[in-house]
Amino acid sequence: MNQCDTSFFTEIIKISINEIYIFDSKSFKFIFVNDAAALNMGYSKDEFLDLEVATIKPAYTFKEFSNYIQPLLEGSVAFLTFETLHQRKDGSVYNIDIQLQCILSNTKKVCIAVGRDITDRVKKHQNLMELATIDSLTKTYNRYQINAEIENEIIRVQRTDRRFSLMMIDLDYFKKVNDTFGHDIGDEVLIEFTRVLKKSLRKNDKIGRWGGEEFMVLLVETSLKDALSVSQKLCQDIDRYKFKSIGHLTCSIGVSLFKRGDTKFTLLKRIDQALYLSKNTGRNRVSILE
Ligand code: GH3
Ligand code: MG
Ligand code: MG
Repeated sequence: MNQCDTSFFTEIIKISINEIYIFDSKSFKFIFVNDAAALNMGYSKDEFLDLEVATIKPAYTFKEFSNYIQPLLEGSVAFLTFETLHQRKDGSVYNIDIQLQCILSNTKKVCIAVGRDITDRVKKHQNLMELATIDSLTKTYNRYQINAEIENEIIRVQRTDRRFSLMMIDLDYFKKVNDTFGHDIGDEVLIEFTRVLKKSLRKNDKIGRWGGEEFMVLLVETSLKDALSVSQKLCQDIDRYKFKSIGHLTCSIGVSLFKRGDTKFTLLKRIDQALYLSKNTGRNRVSILE
């Protein structure tokens, strides 16, 4: 084959391991896709000719995609690189990294997208993110992440007139659980405790493991009065709950509200004192510090 033959380049595009999509810049209808694109997407090449780009991109409507690539169509940028999702014929989705260019072909503007399936890379990244932010035993946030969530919430409430409360929980006499039943059972209890905790809270509240048997809960958009009733209900739920291996266990809770003029440190200091108060006044109770 002569290396300058059109058929040579056509063959290269056809068998490229990159997914190649060519579509009309006005109708967004596909004009051409290569083997890799058709294979991964599960449509035949002919079926592709009836589709337009936004139908395979669940993250965009036609209008949104059109707005997104407008700078490319106007010529103010030479290319666009972005990560998005593609939806296959069978409904499944995969992550794809796309480089999009626009060229004039016989007075017609066409867009050429070259993509690479990055599902594995995204999964690895998610696994790393989980390792960095989630406590492996209880699957709640680790201390680093709940700290970050508190800091972010402080920034949010300082920009708006929202509020949040914080709850610090420490299991009572947990050393005795380990001493009596062993460390493995102690671990199971921690997992079971967080299950009860999650059930007692709203979905958008954030739970983190602060230390061994200490947990921090960020109650978003919650007044001190509501935080108190949530905490008291939790304390009662735990008191009444029968743990699989050890039966009865209680917890002590400290609660406070982020106030104007507070910093993370003043708030943490206050709930630490509130928790200390619960411990020193008999445990299995909630204390509040304003
Ligand atoms: P109290 O808080 O009521 O004063 O008593 P406590 O016995 O809970 O006191 P302390 O906070 O001193 O002890 C906590 C114990 O929790 C000590 C440690 O053995 C145990 N612990 C910490 N992390 C883990 C863990 O990951 N697994 C298990 N099984 N035990 C843990
Ligand atoms: Mg403790
Ligand atoms: Mg304790």
